[in-house]
Amino acid sequence: MSRPYVVINSAMSCDGKISTRERRQISISSEEDFSRVDQLRKDVDGILVGIGTVLADDPKLLEEDTYRVVVDSRARTPVDSEVFIGDSPTLIAVSSVAPKNRVERLKEVCEVVEVGSDRVDLSELMSLLGDRGLDKLLVEGGGTINWSLLSNGLVDELYTYVGNMVFGGKRAPTLADGKGAGGLSDAVKLELKDCYRLGSGVVLEWRVLNQP
Ligand code: NAP
Repeated sequence: MSRPYVVINSAMSCDGKISTRERRQISISSEEDFSRVDQLRKDVDGILVGIGTVLADDPKLLEEDTYRVVVDSRARTPVDSEVFIGDSPTLIAVSSVAPKNRVERLKEVCEVVEVGSDRVDLSELMSLLGDRGLDKLLVEGGGTINWSLLSNGLVDELYTYVGNMVFGGKRAPTLADGKGAGGLSDAVKLELKDCYRLGSGVVLEWRVLNQP
């Protein structure tokens, strides 16, 4: 079983926040960056987000012949979400704690897979996506899912667009939230692959070094 090649792409303020303290979708990227992200989406077989992002931003993630994957232990994805619009397949990954009635409701609009006994088991999910023939997966946040994937050694590259603003606020979500590292020894180590100016911000492309 092999997992897809995984790339996280995120837009953040200069101080590392991916939204403000209101945790709503907010424009950080420039027009030029939207084109870069469009191209990234065309180059992958699937786009993955966490349920926090679906509830906050209601993204479409619509790209022809591209899987949309939502990591959602408790089957909280609303059935009228934008991720169900269009012809691209949507897969909701739940765990065994998901209430059966919510799972049955979701099954009417998409495929639901159960992976994990508490939260979604991300390693198992990645193997399942690999088995489905997904070679490359783009992760589009948010901070909780980003940290889980990074800290479990499930990410190959991390791309960030750093916008020309400071959001501040200790409750504003950052690129990687979750529990976080306790020290440098369990930090996720990166190697800079490329960096360049784009519009009013900067793109940083990192290779993730500590794969298991
Ligand atoms: P998130 O990372 O999208 O989703 C996190 C949720 O996923 C968890 O709370 C958990 O909910 C579920 N989950 C299930 N299994 C998991 C696992 N193994 N590990 C981690 N999570 C798991 O949500 P978020 O951290 O709240 O981020 C949302 C914020 O990010 C919003 O403000 C949004 O606007 C922002 N955002 C910004 C960008 C950007 O590029 N600027 C991109 C995306 C999102 P359950 O326990 O219920 O399953």
